[in-house]
Amino acid sequence: MVKCSFCDRQAVYVNRISGLAYCRIHFIEYFERKARKTIRKYNMLNPGDHVVVGVSGGKDSMALLHFLLKLKKKIPGLEVTAVLVDEGIKGYREKTIPTLVNYAEKHSVKYIIASFKDYIGATLDEIVQKSFELKLPYMPCSYCGVFRRHVLNTVAREVGATVLATAHNLDDMVQTYLMNLINNSWDRILSLAPVRSSSEEYIVKRIKPFYEIPEKETALYALLNGLIQPEFNQCPYVKYNVRFTIRKLVNELEDKYPGSKYGLLRSLLELIELQNKAKLVEKNFERCAICGNPSSHPVCRACVFRAHLGLLKNEEKLKLDVLLRENPDVAKLFKQAGSGNQLQ
Ligand code: SF4
Ligand code: ZN
Repeated sequence: MVKCSFCDRQAVYVNRISGLAYCRIHFIEYFERKARKTIRKYNMLNPGDHVVVGVSGGKDSMALLHFLLKLKKKIPGLEVTAVLVDEGIKGYREKTIPTLVNYAEKHSVKYIIASFKDYIGATLDEIVQKSFELKLPYMPCSYCGVFRRHVLNTVAREVGATVLATAHNLDDMVQTYLMNLINNSWDRILSLAPVRSSSEEYIVKRIKPFYEIPEKETALYALLNGLIQPEFNQCPYVKYNVRFTIRKLVNELEDKYPGSKYGLLRSLLELIELQNKAKLVEKNFERCAICGNPSSHPVCRACVFRAHLGLLKNEEKLKLDVLLRENPDVAKLFKQAGSGNQLQ
């Protein structure tokens, strides 16, 4: 039996890099201290903020919601609203929705369930079906990620939130970094900062409090707090997701050479820092001319996808026709999007 490095209790976790062992109580303390440190380091939250937390009902997002509710007691006037995006994936999402609903009701947390059907006009299952029929070059996870961000941004604006928190952890960041390196998508790499904010009032600040915390620690925090059931529930579209191959590779690397993930994260942060100093890429946000959400292009990716899928409303179609006629950048954007060579 391995003993906790701080007391006589049995350890539930050993940090392979520091060699320290933690019992349940000391692990929870260690985890929360680390997340609070990230929040302070990047100035993520301030008194009076209204935080919308993107929650899927899975381990990472339940851990984030639980942690932020505890933090609420320490930050005066902090308001927390959980938003669960229901993509409409049959046999999958309906299993995780009750996890959030039960937790929110038990802890009196405000929550909103926002569906793709209501906000995009179709469920992900319908979108995937339509995409195959139209022979569009995108994978299910591309639609899922882009539309999920679109729904979260829209809801955050609707409820007047000042901050949008997502549960991306160190593993997610490193995987996305490598996927974008393979794609040569530098603009996206440079947007992987722990905080993204802007002086534009329509842009809700986006934060990732678990940025420096490995996935196995967020999972353990969720389990030790009884936030999730240790059961296997996998999205049926996972087989199309290249992320899982990258994830396996990075985990193998970490197993063999502990500290590799932190090393990759440090190199990502360094790149972002260098770009901030050199201003290599101007990260001016615009407002999507169709939906009004923040976008680095005149029309956001969600609206490009919606247009390809025939999901724009009539007045939106008219707006797009005018843009395509009058703005060559928009026409170029639609042409590029059609090539669909992005890993997701
Ligand atoms: Fe969405 Fe893909 Fe994740 Fe399924 S595996 S929830 S489709 S991103
Ligand atoms: Zn848009």
